[in-house]
Amino acid sequence: MGTGRVREPQELKILRERIRKADTIGISGHINPDGDCIGSCLALCTYLRENYPDKTVDVFLEPVNKRFLFLKYASDIIHQETADQSGLKGIVYDVFFSLDCSETDRLGFALDYFNEASFRVCVDHHITNKGFGDLMFIRPGASSTAEILFTMMKYDRISHACAESLYLGIIHDTGVFRHTNTSRQTMETAGALLDKGVAQDRIIDETFYRKTYVQNQLLGRALMESILVMDGRVIFTVISRRDMAFYGVDKSDLDGVIDQLRVTEGVEVALLLTEKDDQLYKVSMRSNEYVDVSSIALSFGGGGHVRAAGCTVHGGFRDVINSITAQIEVQMKDLV
Ligand code: AMP
Ligand code: MN
Ligand code: MN
Repeated sequence: MGTGRVREPQELKILRERIRKADTIGISGHINPDGDCIGSCLALCTYLRENYPDKTVDVFLEPVNKRFLFLKYASDIIHQETADQSGLKGIVYDVFFSLDCSETDRLGFALDYFNEASFRVCVDHHITNKGFGDLMFIRPGASSTAEILFTMMKYDRISHACAESLYLGIIHDTGVFRHTNTSRQTMETAGALLDKGVAQDRIIDETFYRKTYVQNQLLGRALMESILVMDGRVIFTVISRRDMAFYGVDKSDLDGVIDQLRVTEGVEVALLLTEKDDQLYKVSMRSNEYVDVSSIALSFGGGGHVRAAGCTVHGGFRDVINSITAQIEVQMKDLV
């Protein structure tokens, strides 16, 4: 633990030893990276580069939204194109971290590096994570992967830049401490990071609440076209590829849409369907009190947490909604 640690678990000793011996360390997170994923990858990169300057530390991620680019080392992130062109293909990392990833497939183009690495470490907080790699730090009770990473780092070795990335990860996965995954430990971690001088107002406003004009327009449209079903207990909205093209946005611009749907009065489950291809939808799910959306996501090959999960489903949007609401109905019936 960062502050007040009593003893170091065996896994951490093993990890430190592996890192000490390593020359090359790779880090990656899930496809379509969110704030926790990006914050975690860059925090770990910063920690390792600053405390082990003799090692090569590479971060692999899909392109990140520009609001995250102020984080330290964000401009060093290696995307697929660069990786393919720069002769990195086939490189065997001594240690490779998978962060915020519930299953290896979600590593996307970084999966090959992970699979090839001499020692593979999985750090994650998804309840649907069944475990993979040579060493695992899987804590479904943690708000975010950033919160877990904090417990793995030595507090006095966390710099201001590293603290900023960790803090960003926490605020994005907790919706700025609003979601039920926010625990005492989360708040204490955030407090310890504030002591490092993190500019919380700037990070919260500029990376979480600030929206571009077109993001707001799309949000407005998504809310206007939302539909209540199941006696107002479920709300859904569909965003087509045509809508995305019209507003000139990509999927990372949709952050916040599902959160606004979720707080609709009377609603238990909010669903956001984003068209990825013909008859193919990315589904984001959020629940408020009762419904375990992770199990629904899992049944469609996706995953996540009890109150926030996602999956990709084939079919027309009506069929997708029907099969998901059927599962919600079963869970809600169990209540009475
Ligand atoms: P999202 O709705 O995309 O914000 O995702 C909510 C949560 O579910 C996040 O923690 C994601 O990492 C997880 N998640 C989303 N889609 C998938 C998927 N296809 N497979 C596994 N986990 C997912
Ligand atoms: Mn994530
Ligand atoms: Mn996360």
